[in-house]
Amino acid sequence: MVIVMKLNATSEEIASVVENIESLGFKAHLSRGEERTVIGVIGDERPVEPEHFEAFAGVERAVRILHPFKLTSRDFHPEDSVVKINGVSIGAQSVIVMAGPCSVETREQLMMTAAAVKDAGAHILRGGAFKPRTSPYSFQGLGLKGLELLREAREQLKMPVITEVMSSQDVTLVAQYADILQIGARNMQNFALLHAVGEIQKPVMLKRGMMSTIEELLMAAEYILSHGNARVMLCERGIRTFETATRNTFDINAIPVLKTLTHLPVIADPSHGTGKWELVAPIARAAVAAGADGLIVEVHCDPAHALSDGAQSLKPEKFTRMVEQVRRVAEAVGRTI
Ligand code: PEP
Ligand code: MN
Repeated sequence: MVIVMKLNATSEEIASVVENIESLGFKAHLSRGEERTVIGVIGDERPVEPEHFEAFAGVERAVRILHPFKLTSRDFHPEDSVVKINGVSIGAQSVIVMAGPCSVETREQLMMTAAAVKDAGAHILRGGAFKPRTSPYSFQGLGLKGLELLREAREQLKMPVITEVMSSQDVTLVAQYADILQIGARNMQNFALLHAVGEIQKPVMLKRGMMSTIEELLMAAEYILSHGNARVMLCERGIRTFETATRNTFDINAIPVLKTLTHLPVIADPSHGTGKWELVAPIARAAVAAGADGLIVEVHCDPAHALSDGAQSLKPEKFTRMVEQVRRVAEAVGRTI
């Protein structure tokens, strides 16, 4: 349930509603917007009628939330959440571009790619050190060595870094190196991992599972928020359908649907969403037109020899052109890059 306070509600009135919520055994979640305060009632509040709260002074209305997700819901938090990382704001007016290799392979490969994506206008460097690969015989990532190289690139180029964390045991380690922790599609419902990243104060980008609904994605995010970490962004990276012409089917609908249902920033991954470098720029443009707050794109200087995801990696020149095109689309929909 959410309790919407009147425009002129006093802090005493708000406090008395919160006290009542807690006395009934629920948790109260306050969202102070520019105009008014909205109080979320967390817990199984089904036995309590909204009218109970409407009797309190300062309350405009109380409404039951039909969605199972609460802290992630726009009903609880009507304004867009902005995740701030070292001067980069994600979820604000400007569209953010994250780019870099699928995997960190060597120092030279990472530094060259990082410098190229920065030149092209990327704000955040991506690179996998712990890689969730379908086959145990494929390259599994450099692990700690990869994290160290990411740190080096981060310091040299003054760019925040995003990298994947695959298990709850690694959260503390990866958090020492990364500015944003990525939870991959295959781990979207790894509840121990969601719990662990919920307990640290580091931004998290949660990718949609390839067989997950939008509601399941929001419920996974709810785990992170309910453990205390509200700096979460969501990522549409394509889902599995009957179509075989592309690696995944990028669900463009998910972007406006998520923007309606949740206040969390929404990032689009046209690389995994298509699996083919030729399709990355068109889908990046479409995603920004549809309202994405950011893009995450795989870039490699020599895709033919990449240790992972070469077929969907853009060469730096092509990435530069993509950013230019996306910039024009962003301007057309009232945003900037
Ligand atoms: C990745 O970002 O390289 C990755 C493995 O993505 P996903 O989890 O979406 O497959
Ligand atoms: Mn990849």
